[in-house]
Amino acid sequence: MTQVHALNMSEADWKNWCVAAGAKAFLGTQIMEWMTRKGCLDPLQFSNVSQSLRSKLAEEFAWHVPNIDTLLESGDGSEKILLKTHDNLFTECVLMPSENRVTLCVSSQVGCRMACTFCQTGKMGLTRDLTRGEIIAQIIIANRRLLEKGDARRVTNIVFMGMGEPLDNFDEVVAACSIMLDERFFGLSKHRVTVSTSGLVPAIEKLGQLLPVSLAISLHSADEEQRSSMMPVNKKHSLAELKQALLSYPVQTRHGITFEYVMINGVNDSIQHAKKLVKFLHGLKAKVNLIPMNPHPGTEMVATDPERMREFQKYLADRSIPAPVRYSRGQDVSAACGQLASKRRTELNLAPRAVALARRREWLAKKSESSSSCE
Ligand code: SF4
Repeated sequence: MTQVHALNMSEADWKNWCVAAGAKAFLGTQIMEWMTRKGCLDPLQFSNVSQSLRSKLAEEFAWHVPNIDTLLESGDGSEKILLKTHDNLFTECVLMPSENRVTLCVSSQVGCRMACTFCQTGKMGLTRDLTRGEIIAQIIIANRRLLEKGDARRVTNIVFMGMGEPLDNFDEVVAACSIMLDERFFGLSKHRVTVSTSGLVPAIEKLGQLLPVSLAISLHSADEEQRSSMMPVNKKHSLAELKQALLSYPVQTRHGITFEYVMINGVNDSIQHAKKLVKFLHGLKAKVNLIPMNPHPGTEMVATDPERMREFQKYLADRSIPAPVRYSRGQDVSAACGQLASKRRTELNLAPRAVALARRREWLAKKSESSSSCE
């Protein structure tokens, strides 16, 4: 029988389990605290739980976290953590410590089905959703990495900007965010948990009603036709529909909603594009992050040159729209925005499809290995 993973249980599930096991319901909360706040996934160490219950926990549930396959440290201090799941799939998170915060960019899926043209993950297609436990495990693993590196801090900020479209895995992402925000568990501030979406409008509306998290929109063009060619999601949910949903979104931060805008040379970086952007943002409390396109193998697209970028930025600033230029961290290890494709160090120059093929070969080899060992 397949064991349920302990990190996939909600607080209510744990309380019910404790009562069914003849224990007090409040122990369910304590089990959650051990796993999240204390980062301990060895039930035999749960010192405020009885010996018999500890043994039962160890027997009945799975407690592993995904294995670290590869650590790729960037020259800028960030680190890409390539993780291998229990079913031999690859996903990744990026740890970005800075002076006053520790940000973790987490994945919500293995691959992504949204197929944005400027993104390596989009070229991989979707393999599967991550569970809430696999999302939370990324924080536990990152906190352990900080300790190993002699940094006594813990992750303070989460951005859902890794592999996947978080709102395409809605229930698991919402469940994971609730645990992140709960002060008894990870206790992260609602200003410091950001869900970034390509624009799944019905899910944005639902998210606003359910959770007080910060919202980021991957926008990249405010021209209806151009956005549809860059981001297929726009064919289903137009800019007009997106704007309607954003006008009623309950914003959580001083600066309102963050818009991510990848600056691609000669594609979306003219003053005409800036004008359309200003028009789209009218009536919204917004900040625009201008992100120079991160190069990757298999694409001709390159970043806008700095002078043109400054003109674009000034056009927005003159109309009271803050638009900082954000240079993504981890570019040298394929960890920056749009670059995540589960690459190891020797694969950094490969196109995403080649990496996906290599991973599939590995997966098939593992599968035939395990079936021959069972014969
Ligand atoms: S930009 Fe985000 S939504 Fe688009 S393909 Fe990449 S991971 Fe998916």
